[in-house]
Amino acid sequence: MPICCATSSTLGSKSLNYHVNHDNSVCRWQVTDIPIPVGIDLFSFDSSDEACMARTCLIAVLERFNASNFGPKFQFVDHPSHSAFFVRFGGDHSSYANAFFPGSHPKDWYIDLFRPSLTLSEDQEQSLRNTPSRGEDISAAKAQALEQNLVKILMHEMLHVVGVRHCDAQDTETMERCVRYPHDLSDDKNNEERLMERSLDWRIFSQLDWMNRTLQEIREIYAMKGGDFLGCHRIRDVSWEVGAKQRKEIALRNARCCIA
Ligand SMILES: [Zn+2]
Repeated sequence: MPICCATSSTLGSKSLNYHVNHDNSVCRWQVTDIPIPVGIDLFSFDSSDEACMARTCLIAVLERFNASNFGPKFQFVDHPSHSAFFVRFGGDHSSYANAFFPGSHPKDWYIDLFRPSLTLSEDQEQSLRNTPSRGEDISAAKAQALEQNLVKILMHEMLHVVGVRHCDAQDTETMERCVRYPHDLSDDKNNEERLMERSLDWRIFSQLDWMNRTLQEIREIYAMKGGDFLGCHRIRDVSWEVGAKQRKEIALRNARCCIA
C-alpha cells in the first residue's frame, strides 16, 4: 500500500511547484561560501542500528544533492546543535516523513522520519521472501531494501527543504499556495517528477530519481536575483543562521533531558 509524505503546505502547476510563504514571498536559502550544515539527532531513534542507517542515508543524499550543483550546498555535521536543521525520528505516524520549506519558522526546521520510513511493510517483506535470489540471505536483502526506501524518502524531503512542493499540490493542498515554474507552461503540461508525488509506493522506489528537468528548474530559480519576482511573488533569501541560537538552545535542553 502506498504511504504518504506528511509535508503539505496551492495554486500550483503540473510543472515544478514552488512553495509560497504566508507573506506572499518565495523563499530560497541564501547561498554563501559556507555549506548549510545538516545534523542528525541520533538519540531520537529507537535503536543504534536505525540511527546509523539514517545517518548513512542522509550523508549519501546530501552528497548527491551537492553533486547536482543547483545552488545551495549542504554538509553533514555530527552534532545537532551545530546544524541549520536536523533529521530526527518523529514517532509512530502513519506517513513516511515530514519536512519544511525555506522561510517557515526556524523552530520548525526539522526533517522528521516516522516509523514507516524505517520499517519494511508486510507486503515488501513478503516480496523479498518470494524473490528466489534473495531467499538465502533475507536479512541482507531487508537491510538493502530499508536503505533504498530511506534514500528515496530523504531525496523527496530534501526537495521540500529547497522549496519544492508535491507535484499534485494544486489539487490536494489547496490551503497553502505555490507557484509554478516555469510559469508560462500550459496547464495541461504533465509533471513527470514522480518522486514528488505525495503518495509513494515502495514498488517503484527503485525507478525514482531526481529528474534533470527538476534540478535544472531549481537551478534557474536559485540563479535569479534576490528581489526578482517568480510570477507575482518576490524572491526572498533566508539565511540558515536565522534561529540558529534558538535551535541550539532546544538541542541543549533536549540533551539535558536525556541526561536527567
Ligand atoms: Zn512530501
